[in-house]
Amino acid sequence: MEKNNFFIDSKKLSKEALEKKHRLENDPSVRTNHMEYMEGMEVIDSDIKEKVISAMNSYDYTKYTDADVRRALMHDTCDIEDFKALLSPAAKPHLEEMARKAKMETSKHFGNTVYIFTPLYIANYCENYCIYCGFNCYNDIARKKLTKEEIEKEMKVIADSGIEEILMLTGESRSMSDVTYIGEACKLAAKYFRNVGLEIYPVNTKEYQYLHECGADYVTVFQETYDSDRYETLHLMGHKRVFPYRFDAQERAILGGMRGVGFSALLGLSDFRKDALATALHVYYLQRKYPYVEYSLSCPRLRPIINNEKINPLDVHETELCQVLCAYRIFLPYVGITVSSREQEHFRNGIVKIAATKVSAGVSTGIGDHESKYKGEETQNAGDEQFEISDDRSFDAMYQDMEKGGLQPVLNDYVYV
Ligand code: SF4
Repeated sequence: MEKNNFFIDSKKLSKEALEKKHRLENDPSVRTNHMEYMEGMEVIDSDIKEKVISAMNSYDYTKYTDADVRRALMHDTCDIEDFKALLSPAAKPHLEEMARKAKMETSKHFGNTVYIFTPLYIANYCENYCIYCGFNCYNDIARKKLTKEEIEKEMKVIADSGIEEILMLTGESRSMSDVTYIGEACKLAAKYFRNVGLEIYPVNTKEYQYLHECGADYVTVFQETYDSDRYETLHLMGHKRVFPYRFDAQERAILGGMRGVGFSALLGLSDFRKDALATALHVYYLQRKYPYVEYSLSCPRLRPIINNEKINPLDVHETELCQVLCAYRIFLPYVGITVSSREQEHFRNGIVKIAATKVSAGVSTGIGDHESKYKGEETQNAGDEQFEISDDRSFDAMYQDMEKGGLQPVLNDYVYV
């Protein structure tokens, strides 16, 4: 096991480090300005952020009525006002009707297909202090970064299971997982998979271009919450603290040539209705600016993590999640929607028939344990997991369950020319 020397081991924190952690948590004046770019961060000229944040700030979901929801459901195309009504508490009694409409839109644009992919964590070092995440730099977990040989071994195991699309993830550490390291991993992934996604720390346009040249097709970045004040209280240290740089990541990825971009708020961190509105509008405005790009949304809720009881997703239950997903589908009919293994099997089986178009399978959020998990062996020297998953179905089990549910599983539909 690689020794966790760069990152802080909470059991061995020096007095100074402990004091710094305490001050960061309790005294906002010692934190850096989260709206100020750090050295080396590219600033792009874009009006998307302003449009999204001002729409979110002025969204008063309490003013929407039953009549507004009924009107929204009658319209053939859903505009922003309709979407706001569908996200509001007034829409809750109309969930069945929303689900029917969402299902119709999904069938219209995706037939009965459902895409299957798997994530591969190649490192779990992270320089940020996000208080809700198991990988944060103050958390005492086993850290690991896979070597090129280990990455290839993991990929072979995954590819042998039949999976053709992979999403590669790292913690967010430029010093431990630099862009060249990720690029080399992309080159390997391109050998084994037809579709390669990345969920890494946000980078500059030229770096996205390099990663695309190495084989990456799409980039997903979670904004976590679009509420900048709340964001400031959750991301206490590291480059992730810079709210606007993170916000523009997808646009930089598009400018760098990526074929697709993914978006998400982590529901439960802040007011989930406002975060859902902002996430969808982020897609909506970029879709108008760059119509040739593939867009996708995911809808994760907070999950329990090792050594952290500070934060809990109390207000986003499955009913609320279902409402958000149906509203997304009705507002953005041809955007891909992913539902991750954070959600339980019964929920995922149901929502893929209504609004979602993509599911993960054969998931491990630990580092370097696919071989043991896929072959049912004991795991040696794996890095700790980011969070607990709820649905641990293998690729085969997921494939069969999707077929049993009347859906057509798709492993890849992209042909390189
Ligand atoms: S959420 Fe991402 S950036 Fe934050 S601590 Fe976890 S891995 Fe690091």
